[in-house]
Amino acid sequence: MTIINNSKTDPNKILPMKYLWAREHYKNGVANNWTPEEISMQQDIEQWKSNSLTKDEKRLVLWNLGFFSTAESLTANNIVLAVYNNVTNPESRQYLLRQAFEEAIHTDTFIYCCDSLGLNPEEIFNMYKGIPSIKAKDDFVINLTESIFDPNFKTDSTEKIQKFIHDLIGYYVIMEGIFFYAGFAMILALKRQNKMVGIGEQFEYIMRDESIHLAFGCDLINTIKTENPEIWTKEFQDELVGLIKKAVELEKNYAFDACPNGLLGINAEQFADYVEYITDRRLERIDLPKLFETKNPFPWMSQSTDLTKEKNFFETRVTEYQTAGSLKWD
Ligand code: MN
Ligand code: FE
Repeated sequence: MTIINNSKTDPNKILPMKYLWAREHYKNGVANNWTPEEISMQQDIEQWKSNSLTKDEKRLVLWNLGFFSTAESLTANNIVLAVYNNVTNPESRQYLLRQAFEEAIHTDTFIYCCDSLGLNPEEIFNMYKGIPSIKAKDDFVINLTESIFDPNFKTDSTEKIQKFIHDLIGYYVIMEGIFFYAGFAMILALKRQNKMVGIGEQFEYIMRDESIHLAFGCDLINTIKTENPEIWTKEFQDELVGLIKKAVELEKNYAFDACPNGLLGINAEQFADYVEYITDRRLERIDLPKLFETKNPFPWMSQSTDLTKEKNFFETRVTEYQTAGSLKWD
């Protein structure tokens, strides 16, 4: 039994499970259950409308709402229309359903932010067309993940499995693992200065979800690689590293464009350094050589993604959900 190309096993028979990591990611996702309406936007609304934010700070918020509002539905579509079809293992599919639900929550978050701040939804949801640094990222991912959108696509040869891995790297490693992270760092840096804390908290929840999506994606990629070792040629690895390099350039351009003058105490270069730092972490995770060896300019960011730190980081709701979920009646 393998994770793809499994016509012999019944996709509805989930037990016994073979890939326990998929189950683990599912449970971690459930433990981080949340909805945007649980987070108050009152202080954000006051800051936004009283003009207590600088022009640069507003730009940073708008660029990130603009990028994420469409990026979230783009990933949801990828999962449901392309990835799900080709991953035949039941426990992995169970995780993909959870992920799709979480992407719906994320899209809902941007609807909620637009509503609360009184932003023009047309403007925000069209930024992916009008802002070149955002359009470049979206176009890159769309081109990268074209092949498996073909309804007749099958992973029935070495070359096609390589195509599938190439596309999975486009979704999970590049989109969710690189293209989301300059934005996360910017919004969380703003939150640390006590600005737009509602959006900041929503981004913390999203980032926790995304860190699980990314972990699942890497485990999926690594499992396909282990089960089909013939695909992992030097040439193919070089091709993937080339794509990741290009993605890093696009993400840095986006960071400079969203935040040209940095933030109080942070210069724009540091956001670019952060992109290099996290890219090395992604490369390590899928056994590709590191590219940068850049030092982490924002050690505080790992506190927000590290799932083991949830108790002291997420003071309230997440902990309560987890406690409720593990209550024992005696
Ligand atoms: Mn998402
Ligand atoms: Fe995601």
